[in-house]
Amino acid sequence: MSGGTLPLARNLEQFPELHPPFDSQSALAEANRCLFCFDAPCTAACPTHIDVPRFIKKIGSGNLRGSAVAILDANILGLSCSRVCPVDVLCEGACVMHRYNKKPIEIGRLQRYAMDSFYAKGARLPAPESRAPERRVACVGGGPASLSCAAELRRRGYAVTVFDNRPLPGGLNTYGVAEYKLRPADSVREVEMVRSLGVEFRQAAIGSALPLEQLEREYDFVFLGLGLGAMERMGIPGEQSAGVIDALRFIERYKTQPDFSVGKVVVVIGGGNTAIDAAIAARRLGAQDVHLFYRRTEKEMPAFSFEFDHAKVEGVQFHWLAQPVAIVEREGRAAAVKFIQMALGEPDGSGRRKALPVSCSEYEFACDMVIPALGQSRLTDLLQTTRGIELKGGSIMVDRATGRTGNPRYYAGGDCVNGGREVVDAVADGKRAATAIAAELEGGRG
Ligand code: SF4
Repeated sequence: MSGGTLPLARNLEQFPELHPPFDSQSALAEANRCLFCFDAPCTAACPTHIDVPRFIKKIGSGNLRGSAVAILDANILGLSCSRVCPVDVLCEGACVMHRYNKKPIEIGRLQRYAMDSFYAKGARLPAPESRAPERRVACVGGGPASLSCAAELRRRGYAVTVFDNRPLPGGLNTYGVAEYKLRPADSVREVEMVRSLGVEFRQAAIGSALPLEQLEREYDFVFLGLGLGAMERMGIPGEQSAGVIDALRFIERYKTQPDFSVGKVVVVIGGGNTAIDAAIAARRLGAQDVHLFYRRTEKEMPAFSFEFDHAKVEGVQFHWLAQPVAIVEREGRAAAVKFIQMALGEPDGSGRRKALPVSCSEYEFACDMVIPALGQSRLTDLLQTTRGIELKGGSIMVDRATGRTGNPRYYAGGDCVNGGREVVDAVADGKRAATAIAAELEGGRG
């Protein structure tokens, strides 16, 4: 799997980083603001429970390697998490500084400072001893959950192989995260660090080329970190027109194809973080106008509010209460989207107010590119026949404390379990499952 093509890095002016790195003086000053709280709420708020005061204290004393190791002890993807974590609602959101009406400690940027130094100096962790090389675990999927599970098991001395069908592992970190948050090269660098621990990577399409039953025969345990499938379709006429590209394919293409170009007037459909990522990317790739349409209002939009604010600063224009009903095609290409006006009704079962169409309110909005971002479908086909694995709403059912599925040889974590949350949640799932698998292997029951 080492022969894959590295996705391109777009030029830095087009995709300047969202949170530029600290210089050494600013990092030191920020580290020295930390109160090094006992029972630190920032640590409790981190799904992987990084010991935040410990790693910040080490930055303050100039021990950057020690700081990075403290981060990696808890979260092997400390580099990508320092860039993509929604820190406002996790560690920084919990920082005690809020109680004193002070700015929270910039934990994400400090973490990045320590991790950048670690990677700049060769990214070396001690090679783990192989305690029980005959006990083998397969991790299916090359994204954050599998990488975390694989690294944790490898650090405990077990042989682990990660299977992924793409040329490069890293999952959405490599192919699907917006460039201004995480560059593909950084994701790949992180994968290489996991490889350096002794984790084996193999490119294989699990299911078609390599059935799960074969993995079951060859490995003691199988961890499923499959992620999610393709994006949901809109199910409207004209969806197949040229110029319509779903948000994940859009992000992957601009990251991997040098000649990929964006439309002049782009319509993005959806209200989640991926829709916002695509809209901002379209602006930076040169679209004159980017319009995001959502079927409810700003209040119901699932995207984080800081992502919404960022998109407004980038010039994305928002349109509420609009549902697409058709793509209008002219001369073989998408030329407009036909919308119907919506109104909010009573709350549905989830507590969100229902969006209801207003009769005779259809209108057309001219554009030359349409990017639907309606969430990802579930990868259920592969698992339909796997004994004991239960699915609910397309997600794999697991014991939350261990990640164990109904089949004791299988564990699972990340998006295929939680339906699509943050990278750090997937890392936490992978680590939790690895701990449980290791306990089984150590107990000799595997
Ligand atoms: Fe430092 Fe804030 Fe965490 Fe306290 S809560 S240890 S001040 S980062």
